[in-house]
Amino acid sequence: MASGDIRGKTVAIVGGGPGGCGTAIRLAQLSRERDLGLRVVLFEGKDFEHHYNQCAGVLSPPIEELLQDRLGVELPYDIYKRQIFGYRLHAGKKEILLVGDHKGGATYAVRRVVFDRFFLSCAEKGGAEVSHSRVTAIDFPKKGRDNVFLYTEGGMLKADVVVGAFGLDDGMMSVFETATGGKYRRPGDYMHTFVVKIATDRAFIEKKLGSIIYAYLFPPGIPNLDFGAITPKGDHVIVNVAGRRATVEDMFAFLSLDIVRDHLPPLSRDSLEVYRGKFPGKPARGATGDRYLVVGDATGWMRPFKGKGINMAIQTGIQAAETIVDHGTDSASLRKYEERSRQLRDDYLYGSWMRHLCKAGEITGMLGTVLSMAKVNQEVHDALFSAVSGHGSFRDIFTRYARPRVLADVVRNYVRDRRRGRS
Ligand SMILES: Cc1cc2nc3c(=O)[nH]c(=O)nc-3n(C[C@H](O)[C@H](O)[C@H](O)COP(=O)(O)OP(=O)(O)OC[C@H]3O[C@@H](n4cnc5c(N)ncnc54)[C@H](O)[C@@H]3O)c2cc1C
Repeated sequence: MASGDIRGKTVAIVGGGPGGCGTAIRLAQLSRERDLGLRVVLFEGKDFEHHYNQCAGVLSPPIEELLQDRLGVELPYDIYKRQIFGYRLHAGKKEILLVGDHKGGATYAVRRVVFDRFFLSCAEKGGAEVSHSRVTAIDFPKKGRDNVFLYTEGGMLKADVVVGAFGLDDGMMSVFETATGGKYRRPGDYMHTFVVKIATDRAFIEKKLGSIIYAYLFPPGIPNLDFGAITPKGDHVIVNVAGRRATVEDMFAFLSLDIVRDHLPPLSRDSLEVYRGKFPGKPARGATGDRYLVVGDATGWMRPFKGKGINMAIQTGIQAAETIVDHGTDSASLRKYEERSRQLRDDYLYGSWMRHLCKAGEITGMLGTVLSMAKVNQEVHDALFSAVSGHGSFRDIFTRYARPRVLADVVRNYVRDRRRGRS
């Protein structure tokens, strides 16, 4: 289907996070460039003056390329709280400072709610109609009715196609599963997350953290956690933990570890506010169908170990917009979106292997060996930096660094470490 066939059509976007805004901005751009007269209506239920989307607020490369080059969006200077220059990774009872050359782009810490507010305003300025109301139900076309009906807290909309950018909102995932007759199925597994925001002064942050994110893979003695992190901002730090069975007690246990407390101001547990959230642990099913596709977290395509959910949401939003405009709105046309996003989905698989390898490495002690090697071996250092910072795809990391010579070195060093440990 050519662009002309969607001339004058209405696209409804459910959700105004990075996925929804990315879709809206790209659709409005394409509509202008190709004179399509598209009507883009974006529904966002939260008021970003008071409500927020869960996040540590780290924008990783290629965020600038996505925003500036693909969407024509320039982030205002005051949105940046800090540029991040490296990661101190704790794993396998060892630690290492990982610093990259930043050729692939810079990493920034921002306040997520300010980013969301700004990005939504860009969608509106770009030409999308933003409706500050929740979508409560959807009826896809049936028996001669040609439009999709979206019912909202502020009325209803008749649209030609719907983009599901609702993140992991349980209510909306249920609505979408019902509306698509079970063709869309939410991600089958989650990582549960807990976040605390700790106010402190800039001098403390400079002294104890600097512009470094402290990352803890499989924090010791807390089996429910896959990882935890401390992220420095302007006048506060964010601590977050994640794991499939993570509980709030695991967050408190993490905050009590000496290797974590060393980088935090004195805390009183009673005064801490804890935020609970989740990110997808498995892909969703049926990301496209007749008159709909989903983007961002709702696809479940996020890389294991958290990695760049904002980027993935924006990237899938752009791909969704381009698919609709280039191909049309029926299920065969929208399936092209799955082809466009293949690289992303493939990386999910590589990321899953990486997670299993890391877990096995933690259990056997090999992860500690890898960290020790990274201090003297540039290739191992770069592979770790790429994985932790999200600079490279997991696929690139496997194909570039997992070469027989490097793997043989890891095994040799591991055997030597074990012998030393026994003697
Ligand atoms: C603890 C934690 C820390 C994270 N840290 C980072 C990080 O540092 N960097 C990073 O890149 N990623 C991070 N992520 C992941 C990132 O937050 C998500 O991947 C990203 O926000 C996904 O964007 P999205 O647009 O798909 O969904 P969301 O950002 O969840 O946006 C969905 C939007 O849809 C709206 N909505 C839902 N239902 C309806 C409805 N029925 N009607 C109208 N509106 C609706 C919601 O209000 C919401 O605003 C983190 C995630 C968690 C849980």
